[in-house]
Amino acid sequence: MKILIAEDDAMSRHLLLKTLEREGYEVISVDNGQSALQQLSLPDGPRLALLDWMMPELDGPGVCTEVRKQHNRPYVHIVLVTSRKEKRDIVVGLEAGADDYLTKPWDPAELTARLRVGQRILLLEDRLVEARETMRFKATHDPLTSLLNRGVIVDLLARELTRTRREDGCTVMMLGDLDHFKVVNDGYGHVVGDEVLREIARRLLTSVRSYDFVGRYGGEEFLIVLNNCSSTEAITRAEEVRSGIASHPVQTTCGPLPITMSLGVFASRDWSLHLVEEILAEADSALYRAKSEGRNCVRLAEP
Ligand code: GH3
Ligand code: MG
Ligand code: MG
Ligand code: MG
Repeated sequence: MKILIAEDDAMSRHLLLKTLEREGYEVISVDNGQSALQQLSLPDGPRLALLDWMMPELDGPGVCTEVRKQHNRPYVHIVLVTSRKEKRDIVVGLEAGADDYLTKPWDPAELTARLRVGQRILLLEDRLVEARETMRFKATHDPLTSLLNRGVIVDLLARELTRTRREDGCTVMMLGDLDHFKVVNDGYGHVVGDEVLREIARRLLTSVRSYDFVGRYGGEEFLIVLNNCSSTEAITRAEEVRSGIASHPVQTTCGPLPITMSLGVFASRDWSLHLVEEILAEADSALYRAKSEGRNCVRLAEP
């Protein structure tokens, strides 16, 4: 584990360095508070820091104050090293954002024990962050396909519509529905149906740009929101999505299955509609036309 030592006294710094290296730490050592802050501001900088209290330019508590202002990087566990023993000073250090302190002359066993406490806290933080990320992912994504879920994709659509209206741009969205999907389920079972849905999700993601949004709107219905796409491009882009599915069969545990998708496309510039529900209804009508006009095709919603 990386650890930062900031100590202006060369002798003390060397002693700390040797002690910590012996403990297996990857040590970065600096001799002033400004360099300490620089190290702790790096995206992959150390997460454990041992800061001397008194240093030129920026002292230990000063570094703590600055580090605690950063919210875009993982938590840093900071131990202040001080020769001050007065309660009042310790309070100042802790209030500035230090997690712990050690008084000089420090005892190597106490030093390493306190750093292990720090590591335990960091581990706990990592687990909490991981749990939060998992929860966030589950709340926003569909469990079967890992695409954005219905609530999120519809919200994104609404947000894109507001943004492009303000910037006098165009939001293009497509509603795609697999053709005769019931036949897959009825003929090969739900598990194979699920395999197809997962593969379709993967293909949809590969047929759009990284900044477009793909969501699972319903059972075998998908909603795609394209960023910065003109209404003239809309059909071409939808055709790419359609052919990305129709061009080659989906490999399943029951062998290759030919799958196709019908799409209804909506380009906001051609319309004066405001409500996302109205827009979804228009895309759905276009999709219905694609279905009734033979499936495996694209239809544009026209005012
Ligand atoms: P059309 O071409 O008119 O769209 O015909 P279709 O058979 O695709 O349409 P329909 O809406 O009648 O059938 C959709 C099917 O999708 C029915 C439902 O069982 C299936 N389905 C919905 N969600 C899932 C899922 O999560 N897994 C599986 N395997 N099937 C699903
Ligand atoms: Mg000092
Ligand atoms: Mg359907
Ligand atoms: Mg269908």
